[in-house]
Amino acid sequence: MLKTNAWKTWNDKDIEKAFDFAEEYRKFISRNKTERKFLEASVKIARNSGFKEISELKKISPGDRIFKVNKNKQVIFGIMGKEGIESGARFIVAHIDSPRLDLKPSPAYEDEGIAFFKTYYYGGIKKYQWLTIPLALYGVVVFKTGEKKTIEIGDNPGDPVFTITDLLPHLAKDQVKRTIEEGFPGENLNILVATIPSREEKEPVKNNLLSILNKTYGIKEDDLISSEFEMVPAGEARDLGIDRSLILGYGQDDRVCSYACLRALVEKKNLAKSAFCILVDQEEIGSYGSTSAQSTFLQFFLEEIAEKTGFKKNIMHIYENSRALSADVSSLFDPGYREAYDSRNTARIGHGVCVERTTGARGKAGSTEPSAEYIAWIRKIFDEKKVHWQPSEIGKVEQGGGGTVATFLARLNIPTIDCGTGVISMHAPFEVTSKADIYSTHLAYSAFYAS
Ligand code: MN
Ligand code: MN
Repeated sequence: MLKTNAWKTWNDKDIEKAFDFAEEYRKFISRNKTERKFLEASVKIARNSGFKEISELKKISPGDRIFKVNKNKQVIFGIMGKEGIESGARFIVAHIDSPRLDLKPSPAYEDEGIAFFKTYYYGGIKKYQWLTIPLALYGVVVFKTGEKKTIEIGDNPGDPVFTITDLLPHLAKDQVKRTIEEGFPGENLNILVATIPSREEKEPVKNNLLSILNKTYGIKEDDLISSEFEMVPAGEARDLGIDRSLILGYGQDDRVCSYACLRALVEKKNLAKSAFCILVDQEEIGSYGSTSAQSTFLQFFLEEIAEKTGFKKNIMHIYENSRALSADVSSLFDPGYREAYDSRNTARIGHGVCVERTTGARGKAGSTEPSAEYIAWIRKIFDEKKVHWQPSEIGKVEQGGGGTVATFLARLNIPTIDCGTGVISMHAPFEVTSKADIYSTHLAYSAFYAS
């Protein structure tokens, strides 16, 4: 249903379903804030609904539920359709990394009796939003032996948290005159970590911090070089609004689409076309790494499927007959900042999943521009299943822009369109989504898999 407010058209039962789904989502994203944790939890969900690691199967037949993990950070889940892989497949790709603050390889230092961690921000953030909020630390340290240690501080009951300080307004006479860009240099995003000194003369607070790390986790300073530590906003995602219609939470870009697409897939049985949910890493930094949407992992996985199903042709024949959704969030009209949007072409909160033909920037640079034929097909399958959906664009022409992973599927010769949940305050520590849109996204992906 095009551009209609879902709350107005749904009956009580529909609304209850939307609230129930959003509550499961809220709990899931509160527990799984990093790409590694999201991946582990999604594999658990899939295994519980009968998915098996592809290497466990000698032969693959229609109805089989399979998955494959790439280096703990990328995963593809699939259900084999009755028509066989040669008739093409339905691909949905979403990303499980979110903007955050990574610790640098040598993060710890001491200044005026305070120990800090230096960070390097990951993804596009407005840096001032990350000051003076409670932060949690998630990480994995890999020792030279290959042994791993995971660390989580800040989200479990009783945990301490971390923060980045800001200047008091009483002394901000000069600070407030600077532009936002000049006023908040990335190099200043230093995390306050400790203040109790050890008995050593040199850097006593830093030394005390390192000895706590060593005693509690067996980590030495040099081990931090082979670690991944991510600072993310502490605390659970919350219901937002007196009517509880919204979710306020960290990293909904793009865990909202990732979760909706995973759930849509695992709930499926008896599909005509084979269906895949691809969860990728590194989208927020351009998709360059081996666990990103640009890696050849999908190709590798399909070749293994082809071999185990007896499909003899080149896998390009699978692409040729396939269709894809790039499941990433879109921006919603925010009346507080109406000057940034074209109000006729921006999605509205609560009006369903967004379908975005044009991404990129300036003269559509970077956009994959799916054809009118493909958009017509999408309209048909969503309307047939009474999915609330709306066409959207990120904002005004020449106001900025953004890219998605759509291009990495489109270049395989698969028609691909961006389709995901609308967000307000995208990339802020706490992003806003509507439960109506979250549930509509789930219904949209479900309709796509069944098409
Ligand atoms: Mn995204
Ligand atoms: Mn993003």
